[in-house]
Amino acid sequence: MASLSLENICKIYPNGFEAVKDFNLEINDKDFIIFVGPSGCGKSTTLRMIAGLEDISKGTLKIDGKVVNDVEAKDRDIAMVFQSYALYPHLTVYDNMAFGLKLKKVPKEEIDKKVRHAAKILDLEKLLDRKPKALSGGQRQRVAMGRAIVRQPKVFLMDEPLSNLDAKLRVQMRTEIAKLHERLGATMIYVTHDQTEAMTLGTKIVVMKDGVIQQVDTPQNLYNYPQNLFVAGFIGSPQMNFVDAVVAKDGEKVVLKMNENKFVLPEAKAKELVEQGYMNKTVTMGIRPENIHDPKELAEVKNGCELNVKINVYELLGSEVYLYFDLEQFPMTARVNADTTARMGDEVKFIMDMDKTHIFDKETGIVIT
Ligand code: ATP
Repeated sequence: MASLSLENICKIYPNGFEAVKDFNLEINDKDFIIFVGPSGCGKSTTLRMIAGLEDISKGTLKIDGKVVNDVEAKDRDIAMVFQSYALYPHLTVYDNMAFGLKLKKVPKEEIDKKVRHAAKILDLEKLLDRKPKALSGGQRQRVAMGRAIVRQPKVFLMDEPLSNLDAKLRVQMRTEIAKLHERLGATMIYVTHDQTEAMTLGTKIVVMKDGVIQQVDTPQNLYNYPQNLFVAGFIGSPQMNFVDAVVAKDGEKVVLKMNENKFVLPEAKAKELVEQGYMNKTVTMGIRPENIHDPKELAEVKNGCELNVKINVYELLGSEVYLYFDLEQFPMTARVNADTTARMGDEVKFIMDMDKTHIFDKETGIVIT
């Protein structure tokens, strides 16, 4: 398989629009890389530049250490699986998978071996004689994958391959793709705007916004240590809560002060804010919904602050409940156990775990502590 290196890659479309800006990324052999971000952030453009379907305006793309900027798509040893599958409707599953190899004049027996091997991996052995119209969405998806697998490419590229499937099938195929990555030991690059897909599949996730990389990290680090407000808000569902507050002294303690509320900061966070010159400045505090506790379910919270609020909406999701409320003018969500007694309209006391807060510079959005 292969490693890739993207160095200072830019894409400027002929109309002058800069879709990808100074993109730098090292992709190791066997990595499962996810490009994730909102619509229009440049994910597909980057993938298409790697595939050779789009010119690179500036920068260097290397595969296994060799510069491939000017190597044609068909010579890059890369297979791309598209959202639309692009199967040939008049060909059987077998012939759809064999098509590329036939064009390359690969001997018949070898084609047969490769197609049957891919069919086995993808559980398509019983469907080889069918035409695409006699297949379900998930089966068609697998055939599209099969077509890529038989080519034994160095790199697999996938552009939102699950977006045409219904919710249940998406979850099923997601597991299939994860298994496939494991089995093939291949380098894969996968584009999605779905953060759940990104978090469950990727070994490394690249979060993008407006053509610029925001953070490259493991799923766990992205969730626990978001580097800026955008990543913090994009990763996690329901999303992280944000409130603005002023860093202030309260006796010996350092607190985050809102109009009517104040929250004592844990020592380490207080120290960091003071040292970095944020005293008396407004910052943005972020806290995930699961770190706002119903006192009854109280997990061990060393540095807890009370929140006295009124529940606006109660939402039961089976094993857990989302409680929506306002903290002064900021809309918030708490994610608590389903056995909570809190209901819409109730005055509730929550405990906010201050060790789990993320403090961001309000102007730049960059994390402080
Ligand atoms: P989505 O999730 O909606 O597919 P994306 O992150 O994959 O979005 P791209 O398709 O890479 O985004 O597009 C990035 C930006 O480049 C968008 O603003 C898009 O409008 C613009 N763009 C794409 N193709 C062209 C083109 N041929 N000419 C000019 N601008 C383009």
